[in-house]
Amino acid sequence: MRSLALLALLALEAAAAPLPAVKMPSGRLFMVIQPHHDDHTTDYGFGGLIARLVDEGWRGVYIRASNDEKDGAHGYALNDQINLKECLEACRILGIERVHSLNWRNDYMDPIPTQELRAQLILLIRLYRPDLVLGHDPWGHYDRNPDHRKVAWAMAEAVWMAGYAGVHPEHLAAGLKPHRVPYLFLKARVDYGRGHEPNVVVELNESQIARKQKAYSAHRNVYASPAMARAIRKQLAAEGLFVPELEGLNDQQAAVLIEEWYMEWISRKRGEENGLRYGEVYWFRDEFDHLPGLKDYLRENAVQP
Ligand SMILES: [Zn+2]
Repeated sequence: MRSLALLALLALEAAAAPLPAVKMPSGRLFMVIQPHHDDHTTDYGFGGLIARLVDEGWRGVYIRASNDEKDGAHGYALNDQINLKECLEACRILGIERVHSLNWRNDYMDPIPTQELRAQLILLIRLYRPDLVLGHDPWGHYDRNPDHRKVAWAMAEAVWMAGYAGVHPEHLAAGLKPHRVPYLFLKARVDYGRGHEPNVVVELNESQIARKQKAYSAHRNVYASPAMARAIRKQLAAEGLFVPELEGLNDQQAAVLIEEWYMEWISRKRGEENGLRYGEVYWFRDEFDHLPGLKDYLRENAVQP
């Protein structure tokens, strides 16, 4: 969930040096490992990137680790069902083919042994053999959401450990092979804690932004609430103002349009900060980034045969 204070906080951000546009990795399958139903569509990342990956021929799988029971106003059981349904719809809009729900209890994940969640992720990584994993940055300065932290750490460990034959040998006995994930895109919120330190910007086009907008506002249980549009219109009316584009729309339609404007605005802001029209920013790692000196040496000294 995002805070309405985000708009004001973002406006106060100091201008930073532009980030380099990422050289998109090549591959066939990406895996999104996230705790919640909406994490693949948030303002701070993934909707546009997923749309671009699908445009470039990738296939996608979404792992939803929690049951989302506390996100929404319909009570635990119904929130779980509504949020999963809306997650599936957002995945359909973005072009993700499959969703696996691990159904751990939302916000009550601390008692789970990380090892158990990690084992599930190692199994799924070995089964799907993704070339690219998308998730929260476990090395971000601070994320107040306990599920984000828990799943990010389990993901980071699983991505590394899935490559070792000595880890969960029962998987190998059952016919799976170790798999090393070569690429990672990691995101983190910028509106609390100490923000994030992205190292790349991903350029997006209008069509990708349109899918990002639609996927985000598919989460009607937590976003695009008619009450939000009502409150905004009431506040504007109190100041003697109105927004022409909202006239003639009911509160639900107005709420969707406002959320779509918000997704367009944040994508344009991240793009313009980095010399592009639209963008999203990430911490990107490739398989050699843990050896930066060796990578530089090889690039400088490689020759054609
Ligand atoms: Zn989340």
